[in-house]
Amino acid sequence: MKNWTRAFALLAAAALGACTTVNTTAPGAVGIAREQSFLVSAEAVQSAAGQSYAKTLTDGRAKGVVNNKPVMLARVQAVSRRLIAQVGAFRPDAPSWNWEINVMDTPEINAWCMAGGKIMVYSGLIDKLQPSDAELAALLGHEIAHALREHTREAVSRSVGQQLVLTGLAAATGASQSTVQIANAVAQVTYSLPHGREQETEADRMGLELMARAGYEPRAAVTFFQKLARASPSKGPSWLSTHPQSEARAADLQAYIARVEPLYKASAKP
Ligand SMILES: [Zn+2]
Repeated sequence: MKNWTRAFALLAAAALGACTTVNTTAPGAVGIAREQSFLVSAEAVQSAAGQSYAKTLTDGRAKGVVNNKPVMLARVQAVSRRLIAQVGAFRPDAPSWNWEINVMDTPEINAWCMAGGKIMVYSGLIDKLQPSDAELAALLGHEIAHALREHTREAVSRSVGQQLVLTGLAAATGASQSTVQIANAVAQVTYSLPHGREQETEADRMGLELMARAGYEPRAAVTFFQKLARASPSKGPSWLSTHPQSEARAADLQAYIARVEPLYKASAKP
């Protein structure tokens, strides 16, 4: 059965004809060098993410829950912009992405950055965790790193591949990537599917470097993720429950703080 499934997966990949293996980012001081495989294009994922983000804003505005806390919004935008000013260290195209930064008024502890730089912070995260600016930079650096590394594109590629396997589409028709399929997968990955452990660790390390370059004390990443772990009930949202276990995460961050310390020392402080 497994071999049969693998055969279909290979057929699906062949039919798509676009299985590319690349590294989306420069390794940086933290040395991220994992090669990535994609079945869908960056453009398709960014376009789907842009549409999904616009719909989230439209729906949120209809309910009156977008950006109605001006002080909180200004703070989130100021910290985000300092981090965005550093993304060129990892990929030259990212500074010119059409970045958007908004705050949704909801008690949930959550935040994300969609493909192409679409940032959303939920007010519940700020209200409940009361992060310092540096702790906020740790969160935002982590979410921005997911976008720079195109982790959603990786997940969508897996999802599309699995759907092709399940439906046998690849064998029957040599299916092309349906826009609807990709859009659905992007929304699903952003709102309900957690990233894998490997992606989380990459986002932690790259986020750490972004915050250090932006002039935020990297040790705040440790305290932020401790706060997050304490606030997360055992059956919390999926994006929290599969984040790396807090002790292992703190140890990894500590090890990488040493690597980014010189960048922090040399950075302009906020
Ligand atoms: Zn994450």
